[in-house]
Amino acid sequence: MEEKTKMLKEKLFRKSESGWYTSPNLDEIFDYAEGYIDFLNHSKTEREAVKYFKQKLDENGFKDICDVTSLAPGDKVYYINHHKNIYAAIIGSEDFKEGFNIIGAHIDSPRLDLKPNPLYEDTSLAMLKTHYYGGIKKYQWLNIPLSMHGVFIKKDGEKVEVNIGEDENDPIFTIADLLPHLSNWQEKKKLSEAIDPEKFNILVGSMPYTTEDEKDNVKLNVLSILNKKYGIVERDFVSSEIEFVPAFKARSLGFDRSMVAGYGQDDKACAYPSLTALLKQENLTRTSICILADKEEVGSMGNTGMSSHNFEYFIQKLMEKTNTKASIHEIYKNTLVLSADVTAAYNPNYQDIYEKNNESYLGHGLSLIKYTGSASKGGASDANAEYIGFVRKMFEEKNIAYQNSEMGKIGVGGGGTIAYILADRGMNVVDCGISLLSMHSPYEITSKFDLYNAYLGYQTFYQNAETFKD
Ligand code: MN
Ligand code: MN
Repeated sequence: MEEKTKMLKEKLFRKSESGWYTSPNLDEIFDYAEGYIDFLNHSKTEREAVKYFKQKLDENGFKDICDVTSLAPGDKVYYINHHKNIYAAIIGSEDFKEGFNIIGAHIDSPRLDLKPNPLYEDTSLAMLKTHYYGGIKKYQWLNIPLSMHGVFIKKDGEKVEVNIGEDENDPIFTIADLLPHLSNWQEKKKLSEAIDPEKFNILVGSMPYTTEDEKDNVKLNVLSILNKKYGIVERDFVSSEIEFVPAFKARSLGFDRSMVAGYGQDDKACAYPSLTALLKQENLTRTSICILADKEEVGSMGNTGMSSHNFEYFIQKLMEKTNTKASIHEIYKNTLVLSADVTAAYNPNYQDIYEKNNESYLGHGLSLIKYTGSASKGGASDANAEYIGFVRKMFEEKNIAYQNSEMGKIGVGGGGTIAYILADRGMNVVDCGISLLSMHSPYEITSKFDLYNAYLGYQTFYQNAETFKD
């Protein structure tokens, strides 16, 4: 009798367990994570991620689509959009009208951007004013080591790239927080009001240019150093994109080294598997595309965000160079998409925020998320059941670990991804990324099992040769 009950449970119950129990390929998992950690340490901004991935694409036989006149099955191409966003594709043997297999992730992350006139001196300290980018819990960004990344465009058009604070011999920067001894007033405030973003001024110098006691000599010294090294003047800040990000190195986390702690894992934890999975592909039936978008953290707008028509420019180029006659709408209608973005992992420190039956858990595999959004499902990208059925079958046949979840209890918050933008274009889309702890913090946490499982799952998706009919 007992055996019968056990078998029936086995047959009928949904299973959710840590992938570490059954994972056969521990060496591959840990090796893959080493590559990922190296990627994180060299790609803290969207521009740096583009450079890193461009090199990988070049090494793996991908060509800039602007340099090829025609495309045939097996050909590999990419398009780099304004240095901050990549579309990469492998041409399949099937006609485009059957649709593409697309995996879309984003490579921008929350950070501190500089204001257009950032540099000033106050009481013999040189400071840089910032304007934060993306949703951050402000207290997490105070008194941590920050590094400076980005570009200046000088008056003559020359572009100067800057990266200070990553090398062990570089200086770092920080925002000086108030000492607890003088914080009684602040402790009484609501968390959202306790830290004023206008006080997000980064300390960058304290030595005067000369020994003469004159106004702004410390500011002058900072500018003089920047001028010597990069040839820039104060006005050049107006045509710059300078991002301050945590200077921490990504590291293995835990006695068992099973996790990765590092900055920018939203959404580089999905971007890396999305692209490295594409690099492995040959002889595809359906054309596969990897999107690495910018500006997701602030609404996906602009000419490098997912809403940009420059994506259509890329698709148009693919169509022209393959002599495709089908309409772009027909292609889109038949296109299959995984929106590869991270979701919240259940955090044991905050049990009452989560609804345990419907959360993602670190180490339990890819999160297949039917809908995002908030309390009323407002703004949700809600995947069709038929399409989710198609995707889960694909995963289950290849033993890809997946879980299905929401993000927290109803009404505690919410979020979105690029999913709705592609769904608006008529494509079949479901959110499918990995879960992380401490999202948007300077030091986010992922599971190495989930990363490798995403890599395998995304490969399975690119290899899918079936057309989806519902
Ligand atoms: Mn994200
Ligand atoms: Mn995010």
